[in-house]
Amino acid sequence: MSNSKLASYTRLSPNCNKPRNHKIDKITIHHMAGNLTLDGCYNAVTSRGGSSNYAIASDGKVGLFVEECNRSWCSSSPSNDHRAITIEVANDKPSDKDKWHVSDKALAKLIDLCEDICRRNGIKKLNFTGDASGNLTMHKYFAPTACPGPYLESKFKYIADEVNKRLNADCKPAVSSTAKPSKAFKPYKVKITYKGGMNVRKGAGVGCALVRGVTAKYGYIYTITAEKVVAGQTWGKLKSGAGWICLTGFTKRV
Ligand SMILES: [Zn+2]
Repeated sequence: MSNSKLASYTRLSPNCNKPRNHKIDKITIHHMAGNLTLDGCYNAVTSRGGSSNYAIASDGKVGLFVEECNRSWCSSSPSNDHRAITIEVANDKPSDKDKWHVSDKALAKLIDLCEDICRRNGIKKLNFTGDASGNLTMHKYFAPTACPGPYLESKFKYIADEVNKRLNADCKPAVSSTAKPSKAFKPYKVKITYKGGMNVRKGAGVGCALVRGVTAKYGYIYTITAEKVVAGQTWGKLKSGAGWICLTGFTKRV
């Protein structure tokens, strides 16, 4: 389990259970009910005995308070927090009158963070159902609270659609056998250095489906015809058209 590379600030909270007892398969979004900095949010949440995995300030900066492998104390529901990544988002206009508005920068970063969480944890799709049964949920589904506020609530479908669009874009079938590699990219060869052999996926990223029955074998050499960086790891498209493999840490250029 990893943490998001989008986080540029880390201040780990003692308010958590180590480790979480459930696989990460949900995301729960909160608002700070204030225009707080990451430090300010940490202090406010910690002082009331809570925590969140991440927080996003109005300038789009992302903070990590509880590592993903651990359960935050955030949504008034232990069972939810054991399976969800929880995110606090700042309100640039923190009042009822402004519907607890969130800045465009924070909203954009929230979408980036949700995409990254899905990819690294193998969540293939964000399913916003308007209740706790979906995997994109609000604090108010678990407690009598107005969190995350009318503005963010109105964006949940948009957030899910945007994230799913990005997840799907990468998961289109890799190449047809007649497709030519792009001219700008010079194909190169890699040797698999991972003893177990590599899974092959239909697109770049762990969120993409496995190509069944196909592995890139240890010690074998493959030609890469395209590259894509996903969540800080470089993925390569196999010349055979079978799919994509993760190059970072598992292969060596030859
Ligand atoms: Zn909340």
